Amino acid sequence: MSQTRLLDAVKKLTGLVEKTDLKEPEILVQAKKIMCDLVSQDDWLDETFARPHPEYYQQYLLYGDPLDRFSLVSFVWAGGQKTPVHDHTVWGVIGMLRGAETERHFAFNEDNVLEETGKVTTLSQGDVACVSPSIGDIHQVSNAFQDQTSISIHLYGGNIGKIQRHVFYPGTSERKRFVSGYSSNVAANLWV
Ligand code: FE
Repeated sequence: MSQTRLLDAVKKLTGLVEKTDLKEPEILVQAKKIMCDLVSQDDWLDETFARPHPEYYQQYLLYGDPLDRFSLVSFVWAGGQKTPVHDHTVWGVIGMLRGAETERHFAFNEDNVLEETGKVTTLSQGDVACVSPSIGDIHQVSNAFQDQTSISIHLYGGNIGKIQRHVFYPGTSERKRFVSGYSSNVAANLWV
C-alpha cells in the first residue's frame, strides 16, 4: 500500500487553492483532474479510513487544509446506507474509489417546494462528479450495493466537517441546519 498518491493529491490541491485568481469553473476542472488521478488506483487508502459502520455511513477526514481552503474525506458506505437529502454550500468533487454509489438530485420549484429533478447519477469505480451551489448542490447519495461496502473520496472547497449546512425534506420547503463533523479524530499520515 502506498499513500504517495494521497500526498501527491494534497500537494497539487494546495497549489490549486493558492491560485486565488481562479474562478470556480476553472478550479473544478483542475480539481477533477487531481481527483481522477487519485481514484484511478485503489491501492492507497489505509484500512483505518475504509472501515464501514453497521449503522451509519462514515466520513473520515484524510486531510484538512490548515487555512480551511479544502478538505479531503473518505466516505465509507456499508451495504444499503444512504445520506439524507442535503446541501454542501461549497464546491465539491466526488471520486469513486471502490464499489459504486447513486446520486439523486433535488431542486426547489417556483413554489419553494423541494422536488427531485429526475437526474440520477451513478458513479462507478474511477468516476468523478461535482457539486456546488452554482451547478446544483442538493442531493441524496446512496451505496449502489445492498451487500458490499462502497468508498468515495470527497474533496470540498472548505472544511466540510465544520461548515453549517442543511438537510431537506422533499415535498416541503423545510430545511434543518446541521454540521457533519468527522467520524474519527485522526487524519491520514501522508508520508507512509
Ligand atoms: Fe453530498
